[in-house]
Amino acid sequence: MLGVDDALRIVLDAVQPLSPVALTLLEAVGLVTAETVLADQDIPPFTNSAMDGYAVRAIDTSRASAREPVRLRVVGQLPAGYASPVQIVPGTAARIMTGAPLPDGADAVVRFEETDEPGRVTTGGYQGDKESWVGIVRAAKRLDNVRPPGEDVAVGDTIVRPGTCLGPAEIGLLAAINRAVVRVHPRPRIAILSTGDEVIDLGPPLQPGQIRNSNSYTLAAMTARVGAIPLMLGIARDRTEDLTEKLDLARSADLIVTSGGVSLGDYDMVKDVLREQGTVQIWQVRMKPGKPLAFGRVGSTPLLGLPGNPVAAAVSFEVFGIPALRRMMGHDDLEPPTIEATLLERIDNRGQRRHFVRAQVTRSPDGGWQVRTAGQQGAGVLSSLARANGLLVVPEELEVAEPGTRLQVRMFSS
Ligand code: AMP
Ligand code: MG
Repeated sequence: MLGVDDALRIVLDAVQPLSPVALTLLEAVGLVTAETVLADQDIPPFTNSAMDGYAVRAIDTSRASAREPVRLRVVGQLPAGYASPVQIVPGTAARIMTGAPLPDGADAVVRFEETDEPGRVTTGGYQGDKESWVGIVRAAKRLDNVRPPGEDVAVGDTIVRPGTCLGPAEIGLLAAINRAVVRVHPRPRIAILSTGDEVIDLGPPLQPGQIRNSNSYTLAAMTARVGAIPLMLGIARDRTEDLTEKLDLARSADLIVTSGGVSLGDYDMVKDVLREQGTVQIWQVRMKPGKPLAFGRVGSTPLLGLPGNPVAAAVSFEVFGIPALRRMMGHDDLEPPTIEATLLERIDNRGQRRHFVRAQVTRSPDGGWQVRTAGQQGAGVLSSLARANGLLVVPEELEVAEPGTRLQVRMFSS
């Protein structure tokens, strides 16, 4: 029987990062870049104030104290958004707002809190004509509350490199340098097909012996959550013609995912159809839940055939499908974040299979992590998957995991 790691390697070797496309910034959120973007300008672009206060010459304030404020003549009001015509000569200051260009002659900003003015925000353009005075109550040092150009990003700095996943901060940096379009690996299109005469889609009441198609929705939700696009192909009946027809519709997808029809009973039908249309191997993988797994191609489209039991389908997709999707999306890290936690109860694991246990991870009293099972572990019990925040991994060779054992848990994204 094939091990989990070997099966995963075969699946990952069969898929590649998708050819890059140019997308606008907000289309590219969560996607992985396929280019290097260097800053062609400084952020911020000019020297500006980091505070609301007074732009001064630091040397003018060197004797300032609360008892004997230094009095400076106010020669301007400088809101953000305007170039400043003001010159700060010895003995003068200008009221300045956060983000306004530092006027010539000034080398520091004194916050309102360190003046005798309580402060109120100025807006709406340069107002240099009102003469007044301000008392500075604390000495400023050169460059206090001053942001130099390029403080954040300097010309030539790397903003993103190939393989960067675009989160809000990267999107903001690209916007800050006026980059509206970026080359990324596109969202893979994942065709999702359920099989089974008993499986009925949402809508009509169930007849005796029928069950609702939950797998397509679970798998589509997992697909959408990682940023790929699910294509709902519906349900193929347990007949070769129907499966053939549905698979034909799926050929333009980047990956076909089926559920059901790979257990010993149906096995031959799926195998026959897939053999006719491409290549497929059906494996028994040393894992629990989810022993049967099919993998191959329909024409040139890779196909991952999952077991039908709802949790077996979800766990197999988590273990083999999601890493494949992430690879197509250009991610370097294909596996979810994993933590080590102390087991709180005994788990039996006979049969030399890797057991992915639906689990609840919580904080332990000593500040570390502890883990317990999230309820019944039957391959059809989706409600315990809903209560889980991760999959506890009991290794193949561990027949009994005793309380107190430290084990790895693959965490779900929240
Ligand atoms: P199979 O792998 O086709 O033998 O199916 C195994 C079990 O999973 C059976 O109890 C099926 O009824 C159930 N099952 C198969 N497909 C689905 C589906 N799309 N949604 C929910 N349960 C399913
Ligand atoms: Mg079936």
